[in-house]
Amino acid sequence: MASEVLLIMGPPGAGKGTQGKRIAARHDLRALSTGDLLRDHVARGTDLGTQAQAIMEAGELVPDHLIVDMVRTELDDMDEVRVLLDGFPRTPGQAVSLDALLAEYGAEMSAVIQLQVPDEELVERLVSRAEQEGRSDDGEATVRKRMEVYAEATRPLLDFYDARNLLVRVDGVGDLDTVTERIEGALA
Ligand code: ADP
Repeated sequence: MASEVLLIMGPPGAGKGTQGKRIAARHDLRALSTGDLLRDHVARGTDLGTQAQAIMEAGELVPDHLIVDMVRTELDDMDEVRVLLDGFPRTPGQAVSLDALLAEYGAEMSAVIQLQVPDEELVERLVSRAEQEGRSDDGEATVRKRMEVYAEATRPLLDFYDARNLLVRVDGVGDLDTVTERIEGALA
């Protein structure tokens, strides 16, 4: 099978994880979430997990080189790069590193899905997720910080990908199946 690289972007609470896994399954891609990978490192108490834990709890960004090394390790064991990236790249530096990484593997970005959800709805979703899942970075102050970091460091990447004609904008408000179908429709 040929390589394929999809990227799903959007603010905290937009539904990247949930929709990313669904889209990945349909396209036979590995869903690669840097947030999930980091939480796994924290749970296993690896060196990386130890370095990342406090940063994540503060809602700040783990340094680019640690993230890029972690992603490289994931791509290394794939014969053909077929991934859906969720939560990476998150800074301009990571975007540049990703281009270089993909070039090394002879792959390139296929499309970038932007999940659009209004701020009021994001806050509501994150509050209810905090009640249900108890993720340790879903407290109010950390959520606010994550939103700020998204606006400052990550949102500019949307223009970067739009300028390359890769950006596909999708309304992320609605039930799960509706949003999945919208994404599929937009990618078709
Ligand atoms: P969300 O998109 O809801 O903020 P994630 O699960 O994607 O949640 O990320 C949780 C935390 O993990 C982030 O706040 C950050 O501390 C860290 N993180 C995840 N991905 C990256 C990345 N690409 N670069 C730096 N830090 C990251």
